[in-house]
Amino acid sequence: TNPPHVVNTTSPPLAHTGLPIDPALRMNATFVVLARNGDLDGIIKSIGDMEDRFNKKFGYPYTFLNDEPFSDEFKNRVSNIISSDVEFGLIPKEHWVQPDWIDEDKATKGREQMKADKVIYGGSVSYRNMCRFNSGFFFRHDLLQKYKWYWRIEPDVHFHCDLDYDPFKFMQDEGKVYGFTITMYEFIKTIPTLWGHVTDFIKQNPHHLAKNNAMGYMSDDGGKTYNKCHFWSNFEIADMDFWRSDAYMEFFNYLDEKGGFYYERWGDAPVHSIGAALFLQKDQIHFFEDIGYEHNPYVHCPQGELWKKGRCACNKAKSFDYDGYSCKRQWDRIQ
Ligand code: GDP
Ligand code: MN
Repeated sequence: TNPPHVVNTTSPPLAHTGLPIDPALRMNATFVVLARNGDLDGIIKSIGDMEDRFNKKFGYPYTFLNDEPFSDEFKNRVSNIISSDVEFGLIPKEHWVQPDWIDEDKATKGREQMKADKVIYGGSVSYRNMCRFNSGFFFRHDLLQKYKWYWRIEPDVHFHCDLDYDPFKFMQDEGKVYGFTITMYEFIKTIPTLWGHVTDFIKQNPHHLAKNNAMGYMSDDGGKTYNKCHFWSNFEIADMDFWRSDAYMEFFNYLDEKGGFYYERWGDAPVHSIGAALFLQKDQIHFFEDIGYEHNPYVHCPQGELWKKGRCACNKAKSFDYDGYSCKRQWDRIQ
């Protein structure tokens, strides 16, 4: 029998779909959803899309994480629309709250300055906790230890197209480690000192750099300066063993000690992206052209035949790929 936090809602066989539903073929993968109880309605929308467009055929389990216990209402409503297994986990305090060694006066000054500068979430401590947790802790949660692959889902996102193959299987077969759909510039006021620490880390740890890395996507001058390009991490399909690797863990710990998650407002998007771009070969990073994905205010919408094949609901003309604020050009130039 399952521990009490596990709700089994395994669906009946779906052989009529003609799709690879054999549970034995399923990969060691889960959806990872960090959410607050108040995110429930937005979560229901996101999961609804995911089930309709992909998971009713594939039956991957979901792992929900929260820094507070999930309410019964949250668990009930979410379980009701999910065809597969669900687990709800509590994040341990030591993975979430601001560490004691952070200088609170300095952190307060940083937040006040950012608020004055109208930086989004500039005054928020909880947002900083979230960014640090996503950067360096989620893959260490007890409930995720049994998994290698994950697909991150946030509230109020849209999956606009049918996906009739298994992206985890694709990643494994093609030797991919990190997958994204949207890439853009980071707001520099949130990370003024980040790149300096990154270059120091590289100098001290040259052995961690991958040979054919993606530095050329993140820097226009061979690594001297950061062009602020990053993968938008609210969508990620990736291999948690990469985050668990020595290279990434040493990198995260190095950055964490600098305190920039609290003195500035370092996001998990630039931290994940810089880690992936430096410690992976560039061909281990995959752009999912065929996954229609939207997180306000941007959408990646597949073009041409892919749009038809996926019965996509998004507006092709609105795809962010070559928007002025997109970093898809920088990605393309290193391909
Ligand atoms: P944005 O996408 O950067 O505007 O930020 P979101 O508000 O979407 O937050 C990013 C993710 O973290 C979402 O999955 C949220 O549900 C989650 N999140 C943000 N803050 C908290 C928090 O304080 N507690 C919990 N449990 N989840 C949070
Ligand atoms: Mn979001």
